[in-house]
This record gives sequence, C-alpha cells and structure tokens, in this order.
Amino acid sequence: MSYFQYDVLTNVARFVTNCEWTRSESALIRQGTGLEFAAPATHSPWRNYLRIFKLCLLVSEKDQLAVPTPVAHILSQTGTVTCDEYLHFLVEATTDPSPALTGWNAVAAGQGVRHPLCFSLKYLLAKVAGLNDPITSIYEVIGAYTLSGFSGSEDDIAFLSLMDKRSTYEQRGKNADARQARESIKFMSQISYLHCDGSNIVTSLSQEDARNIFQDIHPVAGPVENDGELEIQRLASFFKDGSEHEFFNYKTTIISDVLESGFSEGSKVKKTHIVIERNSKLRTLFFERNPATICDACSMDTRKRYPWVKRVLDIHHILPLASGTRVDSRKGTLLEDLVPVCPTCHRAIHRYYDGHLKAVTRKDFLNQQEARDIYAKAKGEIVKGDCHA
Ligand SMILES: [Zn+2]
Ligand SMILES: [Zn+2]
Repeated sequence: MSYFQYDVLTNVARFVTNCEWTRSESALIRQGTGLEFAAPATHSPWRNYLRIFKLCLLVSEKDQLAVPTPVAHILSQTGTVTCDEYLHFLVEATTDPSPALTGWNAVAAGQGVRHPLCFSLKYLLAKVAGLNDPITSIYEVIGAYTLSGFSGSEDDIAFLSLMDKRSTYEQRGKNADARQARESIKFMSQISYLHCDGSNIVTSLSQEDARNIFQDIHPVAGPVENDGELEIQRLASFFKDGSEHEFFNYKTTIISDVLESGFSEGSKVKKTHIVIERNSKLRTLFFERNPATICDACSMDTRKRYPWVKRVLDIHHILPLASGTRVDSRKGTLLEDLVPVCPTCHRAIHRYYDGHLKAVTRKDFLNQQEARDIYAKAKGEIVKGDCHA
C-alpha cells in the first residue's frame, strides 16, 4: 500500500508542521505520525514515505529538510476541511508528470501536463451523468486515460464521446504497467460518494449530482515552476480554507438527508459523514456481506419486531466524521468501519457524539480511537438503559 488513509495524512500534516523532519531522524516520524512500516532497517522512513507525502502535496524538500506546504498547515487543524474537500483538491492538483517524482523538468512541463485524477473522476462522473452506469473497472479508467490522450480538462460532451469505446479500454488498462495509477484511483475512492469493490469503483450519485460535481472540477492552472519542489509548493498554495471546494451545496439529496437525520447545524463535516452513510451502494454491499437484522447498539432484532420488512437498519460509520472511508488496496472499501444500527439508536448515537464534541469544544474526533471509544460509550449507555432487558 503506497498511499495512506486520510486521517493518517492529517497526523503526518500535524507532525511536519510541528517539528523539523530531516533525513537523519528515523524514529521521530514513526513516533510523530504513528506510522508503522515493515521495511528493512536499511530503508529510512524518509526514503519510504517522502515520495508519497510529496504526491499528497504535504511537503516539499529543501536541503534535506521536509518543508510543510500550505496543505499541511490546513490539514493539521482538525475540522477545518473535510476529507472530501482535500481529495477533490488533490484530484485537481495532481499532474502527469508529477513534481513529486523524478523526471519532472521544464521540458516535460512545457509540453503540457496532464491531470490523471481529474480525468479519472470526470470519467466516473460522466458515466453516471450520461449512462446512469455507476460501476467502472479501474482498468477501464486507466485504459481510457491511455487511449484518449485527454488531459483531464475536457468538457462533458468530450467525455461522453469516450463512452462508445469503453469496451476496448479495460483490456488496454490491464496491459498497462500502472501500479501507481491503480493505487492513486483507490486512494481517491476515499471520497464519500465513491467506494472501491475489488478492482471496481462504484459511484453512488444521482445523474444530476454527478453532472453538478463534474462541472465543479477544474485542473489547477497557471505557469508551472521548473523546479519540482517549488512546483509542489505552488500547487499546494491553491488549497485555501476549503471554501472554494464546497462540494456539498446540492439541494437535492444531501441537504434533505441532513435535516432528516436531525442535524440542525448541518456542518460540512456532518454532511460528509451522512453522504457516506447514505451511500446506497455501500449499504447494499454491507448487508449483502453481513446479512444481519440485529441492531449493534440495542440488540433489537428488527426482523422479529417488524416481520413484514427484511430489516430496519441504518449503517453507521464509526470513523471520525471527516475521515472519509478507509480503503484497503486488496479488499477495497473497508466494511468493518460500518456497523448496522436501528434508526432510533442511530439518531441517539449522533446526539451522543454532539454532546461529547460540544463538551470538548471540537468539531470532530481527533482520530479513529476516540471515535471508537465514544461509540462504545454510547452503546454502553444504550445497553444500560434497555427497558426490555
Ligand atoms: Zn437500536
Ligand atoms: Zn451514523
């Protein structure tokens, strides 16, 4: 796995903005970020991770020192941006060739960079918007990128024209030696309306939402820097406070979900969380693989109580509200971050979260452990108060 979870990246962001990370300090990064790695002792974390942290636009390198970017500064402040905002930004700012990799030079840049993640996301969105087809093989995306020669800035009509040839893309993508591309598409599928199922990416959006989001995606522009390290800083400077990447203003599904769930405040962070929980494909997949009918919190068997319905259960996403989904490079989106709960418990659990976050005056959990602990506490209260026991 060469890319990381979003919340690992926020740890890295805090680490690089708080202390100087140089080549020599191996133990420090392990401590500071909580990252574990099974590399041989001869491999320094620097060597292992620097490339990825550069690809994620968190650091550039100067005189053997990691220099935090504006992106690192923003991500290090919990709750100011969501996982979705960061990933959409990275989609717009990722270039081919990349200033994070060897081979970046002014010649390549002068010939015009391509935007592989812009291309990939727009391809997925165009397929939903135009064909209402939510399932796309990663290989198909890679093949389409290779064969089309598109830069990623083309409009919806151009993308739609690619769809006729989509049967030829998959084989081409399989033939390509594109580990990096596969990894980056899986990384991107931490976006709340995507999920990764093996080698497929599933896009859970209405045609209208897909069309709207497509129109909001624009590759980062402007003259590029000849020096790769400066280019990383230039790209990172486009990530402001997240206000330009407000992707969840759609009045259709998303806002009504917020209201329905009893979130009067409806902050961005919460909206992201709800989009994940309302991801219908994720829900279907979860119950296909876990055909439970019992609420994880109160143990009510909804099948027994409501025998005329298959189940009356929501899926609850245990991770920090803004952490996105977790993606395993082999298994795809991790379903173990989800638990089935009855709608009443679900609502009560979110009220419990609200109370906790208000008490600690934060907008979000700091990490997965805190989220798991508070979920366990809420569950403990529900079990204790069970009047049917
Ligand atoms: Zn329940
Ligand atoms: Zn929930």
